Parts: sequence; C-alpha cells; structure tokens
Amino acid sequence: MLIVMRRNATAEQTGAVMAAIEARGFTARPIPGGERTAVGILHNEGPVDPSWFAGLAGVKEAIAVTRPYKLVSREFQLADTVVRVGPVAIGNGRLILIAGPCAVESEDQALATAHAVRSAGAHLFRAGAFKPRTSPYAFQGLGEKGLRILEKVRSETGLGIVTEALDHVIFDAVEAAADVVQIGARNMQNFSLLRRAGRSRKPILLKRGMSSTVEEWLMAAEYILEGGNPNVILCERGIRTFAHHSRNTLDLSAVPVVQRESHLPIIIDPSHAAGLRNQVLPLSRAAVSVGAHGLMIEVHHDPDKALSDGSQSLYPAQFQELCRQIGALYELVRAAGADHTKEGAAHGTETVS
Ligand code: PEP
Ligand code: MN
Repeated sequence: MLIVMRRNATAEQTGAVMAAIEARGFTARPIPGGERTAVGILHNEGPVDPSWFAGLAGVKEAIAVTRPYKLVSREFQLADTVVRVGPVAIGNGRLILIAGPCAVESEDQALATAHAVRSAGAHLFRAGAFKPRTSPYAFQGLGEKGLRILEKVRSETGLGIVTEALDHVIFDAVEAAADVVQIGARNMQNFSLLRRAGRSRKPILLKRGMSSTVEEWLMAAEYILEGGNPNVILCERGIRTFAHHSRNTLDLSAVPVVQRESHLPIIIDPSHAAGLRNQVLPLSRAAVSVGAHGLMIEVHHDPDKALSDGSQSLYPAQFQELCRQIGALYELVRAAGADHTKEGAAHGTETVS
C-alpha cells in the first residue's frame, strides 16, 4: 500500500500518517518525490484496508501495490534512481563503462589493465579479489592482498573500484576497499549477504542469478533496499539455456522489463553472457540499442595469460574499438528518439511525482 500525500501536505500531516501506520504494527517508509511525498507501508503480512489511512489529513489517496516487490518498483517510485559513485552517475542519461580483468592477479597486471581501460574511456575499474570458482582447484583470487592492489589502482588512476564480496563474513573488508560492492550471479539469493549489503553505505552491483527470473532478481534487490541501502545497480549477465554456442544466453529483454517494473538502473555484462571475446562487441552494441544504462566488460592487458576468463577478456585494442563504436551508437540511439522512460517506465503510478 502506498499513501500519496497532497501537494500541500505538511510535514506534520505526513508524520501523523506514518505514526498511524506504525500504530498498526507496520513499517512506514517515506518516499519524497519532486512535488509530493508518498509513504510506503512495509511488513504487512495480510491485506491493508485503504480506509484506515485515506481519511487522514493531507492524504490524497491510498493505492494498493500490486507487485510482490515494493521499494524497487515503479509503483513506489516513478523517477529513475541515479546511483552516484564519486563523479560517475549511473542511470542519468549517460552510458557508463565498467571495465577490467576478471580477477586481480598481480599489481602489474591490474595497473597495466587499469591504465589501458582508463585511456580508452572506462569510468570504473572492475576486478575480483575474491573469486567464485566452479572448481575448488581453480584460482580463487588474491583475497585481501588483491584488495590492497585495487586501492593502489584507485589512487594511481582515479578510477572507482567495483569488486565482489563472496559472503557476509568478508563483506566488511571488501566494502572498505571498494567503491561499488558486487554481488555475483551465484550469490543473488544469498540472503545473509543481501541483508549485509542492505546495511552498507556503498552502492551494490547485483548480478542476475543464472537461473533466476526477473521477479526473483527484483526481490533480491528488494532485500537490499529494505535493509536501508537505496543504491543498487542491476546487472544482466546471461542466463542458462540449452544453447552452447555461448557460455550463457544474454537476456536483452530483461532491460525493458526491468525499466518498466523498477526505477533501478540496469547495466549489461556481455562478457560473462558470451564467454567468448568475439561475441562481446556485437552484444555490447545490442545492449546499447536496448537501452542499458551501462556495460561491464572484461579486459585483460594479456588475456592469453589470464588466470580466469581469458577467453572472454578483450585485448586493450579491442576495448578501445568497443568504446569508439558504442560511443557513436549511443548518440545515434538517442538521436533516433529512444527513451526508456517513455517506452517502458511510464507504467508506474503517475501520482508519486
Ligand atoms: C564476475 O563478474 O567476475 C563474475 C564472477 O560474474 P558472474 O557472477 O556474473 O558469474
Ligand atoms: Mn570473470
């Protein structure tokens, strides 16, 4: 249930509505809008009777929320969420490029790759210090030492750092070193990790689980927002299908669906979707055309020697070409009039403006 306040409602009236919600044992979550405030009702186990609140002073209307997710939904918040990482804004009408190797392997490797992706035009650097590997015998990442290298990359290049937290135990250390904490596909429904991310002040990049529906993915994001962290970036990275010409199948249709259902920004990782570097550029072009807010691309200064995901990692020159092409394409797509806020997003309630 969403209680929409009148334009001229006072702070006291909103406070009284919140108190009335809390008095019934629910949680009241204010959602300030451009012109008016709304108050979301959370933690109601059964149906809520709109008449309990509709007659209170300053209330315009009480609207039933029809989706299982609330805080992430367009019904709760019409305007796009813009996630800020230092000077970089994700979801704000500019395509954001996150690039770097699968894993931090050494200081030289991380710095060489970071300088290469920065000069090509990347806005943020990615690399895992803790790696989720299918095999326990595969390279697991440098751990804390990798985090120290990532800090050095930031201080030398100025690029913000995106890196993965594998569990809630290691979260504190990753959070301290990162500018954005990544939750990987395998951990999308790791609920203790999601709850810890909800208490974080750092933005969270939440990858879609490889066998998850969009609804399950949005429910995972809901855990983070419900925990108090509004800064979530969704990342589509391919799902499991019967096809084996690529590592996963990139679900491009997730972009307009998410943009219709949610105000959160959505980016695409074509590298883990494809698994093969020759598919990364075409899928990146498709991602831009479909309206993604950004791309996450694996790049290695010497992919043939990479300790993980070398076959999908671009050579620096290929990343440079990708930046050139998608920069031009992005302008073209915008000039053609593509506007996700009209195509997908304008289906939420218009009242929360
Ligand atoms: C990664 O980005 O390094 C990664 C492991 O990706 P995913 O969780 O999508 O497999
Ligand atoms: Mn990888």
